[in-house]
Amino acid sequence: MRIAVAEIAQETDSFSPMVADRRDFEAYGLFFGDEILERMRGVGPIGGFLEVAAEQPEAVDLRPIVRAWGSAGGTITAETLDFLTGRLVTGLKQSLPLDAVFLSLHGAAASEKDDDVEGHVLQAVREVVGRDIPVVVALDHHANITRRMVESANLLIGHETQPHDPPATGRKAARLLFRMLRGEIGPTVRWRKIPMITPQDQFLTSAGPMKEWFDLARQMERRSGVLDVSPYPMQPWLDVAEGGWSVIAHTENDAELADSLADEMADKAWVLREQFWRSERVAPAEAVRQAEAADRGLIILSDTGDSVYGGAPGDSTCILRAMLDQHITSLAFVPMVDPEALHSAIAAGVGASITVDLGGKLDHVFSQPVRATGRVAAVSKGFTVDLHDRGVCDLRQTALLDVGSIRIALLDHRSFAINHPVLYTHLGLDVADAKMVVVKTASNFQFFSRWRSGLIRVDSPGTTQSDLTAFRWQRIPRPTYPLDAIADWRNSGATEWN
Ligand SMILES: [Zn+2]
Repeated sequence: MRIAVAEIAQETDSFSPMVADRRDFEAYGLFFGDEILERMRGVGPIGGFLEVAAEQPEAVDLRPIVRAWGSAGGTITAETLDFLTGRLVTGLKQSLPLDAVFLSLHGAAASEKDDDVEGHVLQAVREVVGRDIPVVVALDHHANITRRMVESANLLIGHETQPHDPPATGRKAARLLFRMLRGEIGPTVRWRKIPMITPQDQFLTSAGPMKEWFDLARQMERRSGVLDVSPYPMQPWLDVAEGGWSVIAHTENDAELADSLADEMADKAWVLREQFWRSERVAPAEAVRQAEAADRGLIILSDTGDSVYGGAPGDSTCILRAMLDQHITSLAFVPMVDPEALHSAIAAGVGASITVDLGGKLDHVFSQPVRATGRVAAVSKGFTVDLHDRGVCDLRQTALLDVGSIRIALLDHRSFAINHPVLYTHLGLDVADAKMVVVKTASNFQFFSRWRSGLIRVDSPGTTQSDLTAFRWQRIPRPTYPLDAIADWRNSGATEWN
């Protein structure tokens, strides 16, 4: 059997001042053809798919086409979307006849050209391969599911956990795909759009309402005739025409069952809607005070408004400013995306004292530069690290600026390693010595779990801030909870296809 494999994945922050172009994808690995098979073993949903493909009793002829992963960032340029879709379409045409297509997509990507990137890509795929072969998609569960996506794909399988386990999602989707190819199952898909958005504060699936909702999906999957139930709590910075939460139920050829599961899941999300808005965020100055006063480290200060994994620039000065204002004396690790300050540090050299305006350069709305004088403690001219299932990460040039007890790691781009201890260890620091660390994520604290003694969710402003009501929403369907009052998700009028 011949199966095409591709990945086009990026998570768009509609409120970001940046745009995403080909360089954003190149930074994380833009691969074509057989290079994908070499590079993606054990990495991401494709890694999971490859594992399952290798276990099949029959020969599997893989046609790897394009792997484009752009992490999270601004809206994708029209040119970049055309380029990526073009490579995929050309590759598919050259691979015909195909028995199936396996795609890894994010689900919450938007472009200047089309604010439903995944619908755009899937429609293009269908136009090449026709209606008769399976097109199976592994998605991030922060996806925005659209009508075009459901119409164009046979299966849309989301992550089961936050933090995510992308290879596991690839394996789950692949197993269903091979069962389809052997004629063992004939999936029926039903979905519901739930007219709501919620902040990231309750996004972890290990506790709270999100656990309750995802646990229900797992319970349903144990029922007879159920193939997969994927909840999609859309990432909350996506301002697009079909935006909002969703759920998809895949059953073994049973539309009635799929409809009832989808309804039950949507009802559950709706009942929990106020709990999804629960928050324990702490104002920045108070958060720094609490971290400084803690008896022992490591206190993780989650810079929720400047989440790089959510698409924010990674140059917010909000928490750094509070540290400087309070003249903290504990050892603090702070990451900062600032190529200008980085190049000043590199030019000055190790041991030099420099005064620089730090951060606040990419996002001018929520953050401003902060002036600081410090000593250049270390410089790295280039560093590449294997982050296992997240792939190889190129940190490129970095420098360490010591400002009192604050260790500022300067980066020239929004590397995935910004929230990883390697950012500090490769500059000669020991995480065990630190009292606090700023992370540019609201959910992915796992890399520091060995040292973690506390977590403070900082209520920082930014393009990934939790106060969603403060954004200027322009495209999302109205009414949407909680921007508008809605009595019942079914009859909101926002999503006429429910
Ligand atoms: Zn996600």
